[in-house]
Amino acid sequence: MAGKLDNKVAIITGASSGIGEATAIALFAEKAKVAIAARRGELLDKLAQRIEASGGEALPIVADLTDETQAINLVQKVHAHYGRVDILINNAGLALAGDIDGADTLDWRRMIDINLLGVLYVTHATLPIFKAQKAGHIVNISSVAGRTARAGIGVYNLTKWGINGFSEALRQEVYKDNIRVTIVEPGMVDTEIDTHITDAIAKQRTIERRNSIAPLQSEDVAAAIVYAVTQPQRVNVNEILIRPTEQGW
Ligand code: NDP
Repeated sequence: MAGKLDNKVAIITGASSGIGEATAIALFAEKAKVAIAARRGELLDKLAQRIEASGGEALPIVADLTDETQAINLVQKVHAHYGRVDILINNAGLALAGDIDGADTLDWRRMIDINLLGVLYVTHATLPIFKAQKAGHIVNISSVAGRTARAGIGVYNLTKWGINGFSEALRQEVYKDNIRVTIVEPGMVDTEIDTHITDAIAKQRTIERRNSIAPLQSEDVAAAIVYAVTQPQRVNVNEILIRPTEQGW
């Protein structure tokens, strides 16, 4: 059976878990070929095997996207392998919650390196391909935290507000080349993201907050991404804000 993304090639960053993993599966279900990137190669291999066992095509690529050379290599490998790239999902990210005062500033650098620079490097490496093709779609995974600031997640707010501003400026730069830009802003999603928080108090606070509601599942966000990337070429879905029904903030 034909899918809505037959013959399309998608790069999904942060595909070793959570939203990225679910998005790879959802795009494959629409018959896209998926290049899946993250640092944990064993998880990527498992996902690729799962997709291939179901008759799909997946290309796992281990990359630390805070390193510009590895980001460039990722895009070049995918392009060399498939001869094209149609969709880029900039999803890899960290949410290291914690108050600004007294923070471990290493947490800030880690977030800025992947949530901002990682997105910039992969986007920068992909744009020449999209421009030459006169087509392409970039989906940047932002957050409700890119729209609403809250005490205790200030630097995460900084990174996601940055992604929103960057994405709109990018859209204005590239729409004439038929390149679409979408931001997806989820509320709380049930993933492993809290396990990486280093500040014990912030970690407990975040877990309690997430446990106080029925959060989104990664598949819910993946469905929003699929919606954006399967619209006719004339439609550019610029922004999708998606909260759990029970999330009041
Ligand atoms: P996960 O922790 O499950 O996924 C994060 C992914 O990013 C992993 O696959 C991880 O892979 C990858 N990653 C992290 N650092 C790097 C790096 N340096 N290089 C390459 N890949 C990296 O969390 P989510 O699925 O929840 O998060 C995905 C995105 O969604 C993030 O941008 C997050 O900010 C955003 N988001 C999440 C929300 C939530 O409530 N969960 C809400 C709103 C937005 P690996 O460790 O193998 O490298």
